[in-house]
Amino acid sequence: MNPTAVWANGRECINFCSNDYLGLSAHPEIRAAFVAAVNRYGTGAGASHLVTGHGPEHEALEEELAQFTGRPRALLFSTGYMANLSIASAIVRREDQIFEDRLNHASLLDAGRLSGAGFHRYAHASPDDLLQRLIATAAAPGHRRVVVTDGVFSMDGDMAPLKELIAVCSEQDAWLMVDDAHGFGVMGKHGRGSLEVGDADAAEVPIYMATLGKALGTFGAFIAGSATLIDFLINRARTYIYTTALPPAVAAASRAALRLIQREAWRRERLNAHIERFRRGAAQLGLKLLPSQSAIQPLILGTEETTSAASAVLLDAGFLVTPIRPPTVPAGTSRLRITLSTAHETADIDRLLEALAALPAAS
Ligand SMILES: *Cc1c(COP(=O)(O)O)cnc(C)c1O
Repeated sequence: MNPTAVWANGRECINFCSNDYLGLSAHPEIRAAFVAAVNRYGTGAGASHLVTGHGPEHEALEEELAQFTGRPRALLFSTGYMANLSIASAIVRREDQIFEDRLNHASLLDAGRLSGAGFHRYAHASPDDLLQRLIATAAAPGHRRVVVTDGVFSMDGDMAPLKELIAVCSEQDAWLMVDDAHGFGVMGKHGRGSLEVGDADAAEVPIYMATLGKALGTFGAFIAGSATLIDFLINRARTYIYTTALPPAVAAASRAALRLIQREAWRRERLNAHIERFRRGAAQLGLKLLPSQSAIQPLILGTEETTSAASAVLLDAGFLVTPIRPPTVPAGTSRLRITLSTAHETADIDRLLEALAALPAAS
């Protein structure tokens, strides 16, 4: 089973736009854990966590995620979108203030708006702009200010300047939350994500969120933090309370994936070699990539029409790279969001580079 093979346009293509960065979605051990758990527990959790949906696989996964992230506790959510929306009902209140990077994931921006709190968007990856906005917006007595950022930005592939954000938050007494959907499992020597790369410790980022549907190849998400934070979420987060728990088999598969990312560091090493090869090749061919060190390597083409046409040409050549257009990205920055995976062969990458270089709009 090849996780990069995808059926598109009536033929088998190579997928260069999935988030299965480590190729784990087809891993035999994870599939076996999934199947064994289906045979043991059935297909569905049957109820929400607080009723009877929370079983031994969920419990064990939460403990293992807490341990892996170096935090007292972790709480599972059915999707990353729901984990992030929990901010709106649990973490910030109407009287609070929330500050978000302009390019944060849609689920975080939605949470900020839905919360009814004072909502501020700071310039992308700019601790200076954040600081100015924090200075201009003092918290009412007894109320919080929460700063929220993607760890790795989903459409640009660059990383948040964590150390600088931490310094600003500490100076201004604000909480920092990091959404590490694209960092968890894949960034850092041990796969501990953006915080490992940014050399940040748990206390400096009191709210850590990541998803299981990307590098781990399964489905779902979690928030990790202090026991107080997790208790608070269990009692207040509407997107935790009022929804069916993940199927136990998904939790079991995620446990297997979590073991694999710890045991198979070669997956990250091979991915990093792919990233380097792709960037080196692109530079030689005169392709202007964004300054990203992650598996997300976007090629900005500009208009929606040019980008869609380029995607169609690539599809004809056997590569699936869907066009990313507004409103997902700002107008005039439509792009091919190319993502690399451990499961790609180096020859796939070389052939993709050739196809990109042949695009009239690319250089
Ligand atoms: C994918 C993603 C999410 C949503 O996660 P799902 O589990 O797919 O709902 C949240 N934040 C970021 C940064 C993402 O890339």
